[in-house]
Amino acid sequence: ILQRRENHWTQNDELSQVIYSLNRMNHKLRQSYRKIEHQSLHDHLTGLPNRRLLEDRLQHEMQQTERFGRYGAILFVDLDHFKQINDNYGHPTGDRVLRGSAQTIKEQLRKTDFIARFGGEEFAILLPGCEKPQALQIATNILQAIKRQQFRADDDREFGITLSIGATTCPTQQIVPCGLSDLADLLVASADKGVYQAKAQGR
Ligand code: GH3
Ligand code: MG
Ligand code: MG
Repeated sequence: ILQRRENHWTQNDELSQVIYSLNRMNHKLRQSYRKIEHQSLHDHLTGLPNRRLLEDRLQHEMQQTERFGRYGAILFVDLDHFKQINDNYGHPTGDRVLRGSAQTIKEQLRKTDFIARFGGEEFAILLPGCEKPQALQIATNILQAIKRQQFRADDDREFGITLSIGATTCPTQQIVPCGLSDLADLLVASADKGVYQAKAQGR
């Protein structure tokens, strides 16, 4: 463009347009990148962080625990007999139950807590700075809030659900012998084990 034009004003004008277009393209690319990044770290159905983001956050929380000697707890939540909900009321209703229960659980948490959809009908919750009594209190609040919640099927039938929770706390002295990554896996496995105990004790 610059070679073809002789008039300097026109050249400047055209150059400004090229720069403007490049800036716009750059802006759009950044927007698309942010959107794709968000999609890759969040669950489409509930809008919650997904397992990948949970793993990043868990590593971060473990580092905080190690550095500042802060306690933390993990809750693992599994909706009870969820397959039956799909079978009885249909998958679209099942999807609404997942969205609705995720929202209810989230409302019981503090701003600093973190909830992710672990997969299927399972959620993992990180409670930074929480010791056992507080973790149990939050778990109890979740159970009670879900007990109060009513869902509606496509044919207007109303129903409630229950869920099972496993909880585990992370005492800082365990981090040193274990290593952060291994301990993160151990903690999640331990909370998951708690869910099986809750299921075995009647859900
Ligand atoms: P339990 O009380 O032992 O946990 O039984 P459950 O039926 O909840 O557990 P199970 O693992 O047998 O079934 C989980 C069901 O969750 C099966 C699967 O179809 C359903 N599910 C997983 N993801 C979704 C989803 O995104 N939407 C719907 N509607 N259902 C889902
Ligand atoms: Mg499950
Ligand atoms: Mg289940």
